[in-house]
Amino acid sequence: MQSAAKAAHPLECCGILLGEGGCITGVIETLNVHPTPQTHFEIDPQALIDAHKAERKGGLRLMGYFHSHPTGDAYPSETDKKMATHDGKVWAIIAGGGMMFWTDDKDGFHALSYDVGSR
Ligand SMILES: [Zn+2]
Repeated sequence: MQSAAKAAHPLECCGILLGEGGCITGVIETLNVHPTPQTHFEIDPQALIDAHKAERKGGLRLMGYFHSHPTGDAYPSETDKKMATHDGKVWAIIAGGGMMFWTDDKDGFHALSYDVGSR
């Protein structure tokens, strides 16, 4: 995700997080189809459809989304809060060489703690 963020800079990169249980085990980088990708992101809808289809066929679960903030911090922006659907998905935000994970809960974003492991 860090390399996707670097490659997209100064535009926002975005993509899909896949996994199972409480673990994110895969990442799909997608096109940012938003008309102003400098400050917004919109995941390629076809990639989302494909991920949902793969999940239904018994593949990895669609755990959430990631995107970068080329000039901001790793906290959800006002735009992110407006876009949030409160569906409990995980949002990873990459900024300034770091990354934070959030859950999009009914009452707003909450920071998640995480470990980077290998298996
Ligand atoms: Zn954002």
